[in-house]
Amino acid sequence: MELSIARQFKNKVQNVINHRLLKQGKVLDIRYWPNSPLIEIDLHLPGAAMHQWSEVPAIKFNVGEWYFRDYTPFGWDAETSTCSLLIDAAHNGPGSCWAKSLTIGQTVQYLKTESTHQTPHGTHLVVALGDNTSLAHLLALRQMTLPAIRFTCAVLTDSAATGQLLKSYFPWSPALHLNEDALVNWLLTEQYCTDHTSFYLTGNKALVVRLRKVLKSLGHFNIKIKGFWG
Ligand SMILES: Cc1cc2nc3c(=O)[nH]c(=O)nc-3n(C[C@H](O)[C@H](O)[C@H](O)COP(=O)(O)OP(=O)(O)OC[C@H]3O[C@@H](n4cnc5c(N)ncnc54)[C@H](O)[C@@H]3O)c2cc1C
Repeated sequence: MELSIARQFKNKVQNVINHRLLKQGKVLDIRYWPNSPLIEIDLHLPGAAMHQWSEVPAIKFNVGEWYFRDYTPFGWDAETSTCSLLIDAAHNGPGSCWAKSLTIGQTVQYLKTESTHQTPHGTHLVVALGDNTSLAHLLALRQMTLPAIRFTCAVLTDSAATGQLLKSYFPWSPALHLNEDALVNWLLTEQYCTDHTSFYLTGNKALVVRLRKVLKSLGHFNIKIKGFWG
């Protein structure tokens, strides 16, 4: 059966994207967090200029024939061109399904690496707020905040089980909240210095907008936001 003109055009564009624009990498390891929607994925990305990553980056992966999704490397080693992702895969979506389908040794394709333009402030207290999808972003931000004592963090997460794993797998103690109101109430009780605190909000778009409103109502103005989904 002959292919429709639209289908032929789509195939041609797909071929150009695949052969000229996409870079390749390999899955080195995968860790499914027990009783949690999070999947940790180690990658070898020989084409990524990791030594140039001075702001928290995001990598645009090809997660399906016509789908691209951004994921954040939370740790990377420029010498070996390796990095790790942390993906929330609880819902149904091309990105989530891609993460669940990956196997060790599999080739992954990505379009580009972009900066989120989030660099921790040089002297302020860095307060990072997010959800399960921005855990990698928060970890990367923490890693870039030196000394780490200037960093504090609160996370909206899905369950106490994920919270426990977060605390045991990584050397940090984020304030964990199981619902949005609890996170907002926590924020309302914290008394951060307006002039010397910088806030970094990431994750679900509605959450980010709500948190920014709360912070503005408290008089804060050093606020960087990046909505991830929703
Ligand atoms: C700069 C940047 C960095 C990002 N880094 C990460 C990262 O490190 N880890 C990560 O997990 N994600 C990250 N994301 C989000 C990611 O790119 C996808 O948006 C997300 O994985 C959803 O894609 P999807 O194809 O699975 O679902 P979609 O097709 O986008 O959505 C399908 C449905 O599921 C809902 N949905 C989407 N995500 C969730 C969720 N987490 N929980 C519940 N419902 C959801 C949507 O609202 C929609 O109804 C990042 C996004 C950006 C912009």
